[in-house]
Amino acid sequence: MSIVAKRLSEIPRSATVSVADRAAALRSQGIAVIDMSAGRAVEHTPGYICDAAVAAIRGGQTHQTVSSGTPEYRRACAEKLRRENGIDADPAREIVATMGVKQGLTLALMATVDPGDEVIVEDPCFVSYQPLIRLCGGVPVGVPLRKENRFRWTREDIESHLSSRTRVILMNSPHNPTGTVHTEADLDLAGRIAAERDLAVITDEVYERATWGGRKHVSLATRPGMRERTIAVMGLTKTFSMGGWRIGFVHGPADLIQPMISLQQHLITCAGSFTQAGAAQAFTGAAPGEVREMWEDWERRCAFVCSEVGRLPGVDCAMPEGGFYSWPDIRATGWDDVRLADHLLEKHHVAIVPGSAFGPNGRGFLRLTCVRSWPDLKEAVKRIRRALGEEAPAPPCDLKAPAL
Ligand code: PMP
Repeated sequence: MSIVAKRLSEIPRSATVSVADRAAALRSQGIAVIDMSAGRAVEHTPGYICDAAVAAIRGGQTHQTVSSGTPEYRRACAEKLRRENGIDADPAREIVATMGVKQGLTLALMATVDPGDEVIVEDPCFVSYQPLIRLCGGVPVGVPLRKENRFRWTREDIESHLSSRTRVILMNSPHNPTGTVHTEADLDLAGRIAAERDLAVITDEVYERATWGGRKHVSLATRPGMRERTIAVMGLTKTFSMGGWRIGFVHGPADLIQPMISLQQHLITCAGSFTQAGAAQAFTGAAPGEVREMWEDWERRCAFVCSEVGRLPGVDCAMPEGGFYSWPDIRATGWDDVRLADHLLEKHHVAIVPGSAFGPNGRGFLRLTCVRSWPDLKEAVKRIRRALGEEAPAPPCDLKAPAL
């Protein structure tokens, strides 16, 4: 008999973290691996944000805060929601500080999913959704995002996956890994179905600043009738390069946020005190010029990778609408995505994530993080060109994509 609870024996390791770990292991042997696997930019957190956190530590903010977050942080979150998202939030009742977006998602799922409830997710989707839903006793139901439909759902796609057990729709925009940015029409489609069926909608908006081609991020909570059923999970991990800080927040209706705060008291007590101070600085006022320039350069880096990779034989790679990944379709190359990712890492020392890691409908695609340094991107593209241009595909791999 195993002493590990079933709850955890069913949780797979994160595929993206596993690839990054393998890349780090090769690097520790002195091999110059270019890591395009982990979803993080090469830039560090901007200095003015670090200064605010250091000042908070030096000023004695080294103790627990209230579980919902410091009043200053929640006010900064509310100010950001008003300024950037057009949401008028009550910082006292509708916001809870979290240790990053994953922890916010965990709270949101804990608050809405009972054992056996079904949660509609995009397939492919971020690797942590399925394990977190299962941890809450829920059943993830993947609804395909098809390339023919520019990786967005139709009404029929969603409706054919609903059942009497459906409780929640979990949506991500800008989308990891496909790069889709939800339009108002996309949001209204999901919103109308949620209203008809009395479902909650959790929106993962972690990439909200990364929208390209003049597109704008729209929050579902601003669409008619959606505010009372939308739980928005937001953070600074991606756009301010703050992944190591573990800070974010959830915004939603007070009757959902209040039980999340009670759970937070037992789970983590509170998000970090000085990380809240740094994050409050990031959310106060518009981002300075140098940060906006960094985001503009991310768009150029995405365009570079997509155009270089897209011209390789058998590869089709559109510019993402947002987010910072390239999502090439390699089905016409004859390569299996898992095999090619392995081959690129072992032989050419470029770490990327096979599309299958994101769900059955990711098979035949690759995910490449484009916000690495320019020299690394140029070198990585050369190596990928060599692998795809000169080498015959390895036989397909029988590794199964995680079931959604
Ligand atoms: N959501 C999505 C869609 C992501 O891609 C990631 C990071 N890869 C996260 C959440 C995790 O965010 P955090 O590090 O703030 O928990």
